[in-house]
Amino acid sequence: MALTVKLNNSIIIYDEISRTYCECQIGELLFSFFDIDFKEYKELYDKIKDINSVRSDVLKELEHLYPKTTMFLQNFLPKALKGMETEAVTDGDIAVQYLLHNKDKDFSFLDNYDLITLTDLGLKIEINQSYFSPISYDQWDDLDFYSLQLYFKDLLNFCFIENDSKISFLTPKERYYIYSIANPSERYQYRNKEVYWFMPSPLSKELEDTFEDIHYDYKTFRMGSSILTHLNNDLCKRIHESIKGLVKATECDKTVDFLTFDFSSLLSMNMPVKICENCGKYFVASGKYNTNCCDRIPPGQKHSCKKIMAQKRRKEKLNTDPIAKEYEKAYKRMYARVKNSNMTQEEFLKWNEEATIQRNIVSKKYAEAKTEDILIDFKKFLGNK
Ligand SMILES: [Zn+2]
Repeated sequence: MALTVKLNNSIIIYDEISRTYCECQIGELLFSFFDIDFKEYKELYDKIKDINSVRSDVLKELEHLYPKTTMFLQNFLPKALKGMETEAVTDGDIAVQYLLHNKDKDFSFLDNYDLITLTDLGLKIEINQSYFSPISYDQWDDLDFYSLQLYFKDLLNFCFIENDSKISFLTPKERYYIYSIANPSERYQYRNKEVYWFMPSPLSKELEDTFEDIHYDYKTFRMGSSILTHLNNDLCKRIHESIKGLVKATECDKTVDFLTFDFSSLLSMNMPVKICENCGKYFVASGKYNTNCCDRIPPGQKHSCKKIMAQKRRKEKLNTDPIAKEYEKAYKRMYARVKNSNMTQEEFLKWNEEATIQRNIVSKKYAEAKTEDILIDFKKFLGNK
């Protein structure tokens, strides 16, 4: 029910139902999926795994375990089931409702996470008081988000993170080649349908209105002549000026389709996927600097992981490097002079330039032979006590 398009370093997701689209960085679909905690969901999922043989005692247990959900379902189901033959609704169908509409646990990702709500399943999960649509057995696998998460983490680790010397020189693509042969499961192979697609433009709406009363004639297949009679010169000119080339879009009906699309984008673009040294989450290392930390701001912190780690490194360096520590001391003193107007900005810059050169020379010397004399001389040079 959605189309995904790769454009430069981002992915565009087009919702075919609401006709809206959103954009995210390549990798974000997977990383956001990894952020969801599916543990409690998985426990309940396993309890009712075989929906075809859920017995009434299992249902009794669910009623007891999830009282708020039971209350909700007692209100919701009679309305939703109205007009349906009640014999057609099995204990399994009811049990699944505890998973899809649980009011005792926080499974809110089912209602507000794009990679679920935009799928065919998402439409079924959406509360519809006048329509009851049981989850079919072949859709049951698609609800196993926990296993999906494990699978993609393992895949990403093997292709991008693992540094075992046996495979450390292989590219992510070469690693994926190995992985895909070892895992013949059809379920996760690239099988998304590709279509040619134009990015939505204001003209699309105008054209739709123009063609409102055209009906495709399945007998003659002569649509072209009907189109011609509806078009005018001005509209064609504007199409000529504004419509750019086709893009290749991928149809996504299931959560796994989105994740596969994102993974294949990371792979085909050779993106440097890493695990952040500070927060432990996956990220794409962007920019020219070789960084091991992400730009996320951890909960309760003011700065990004990158900045937190840089500060930590600097502190560590100061603690282990007495030359850097002395320089830092003098720097702070001089900077205070500028602030108190006892030194001009130019004088400060000149001092800093000389001090930095001297610090680099002394650091090198000190690394070769750690003698107290070198340190004392440097302190004297800086005027430190
Ligand atoms: Zn981080």
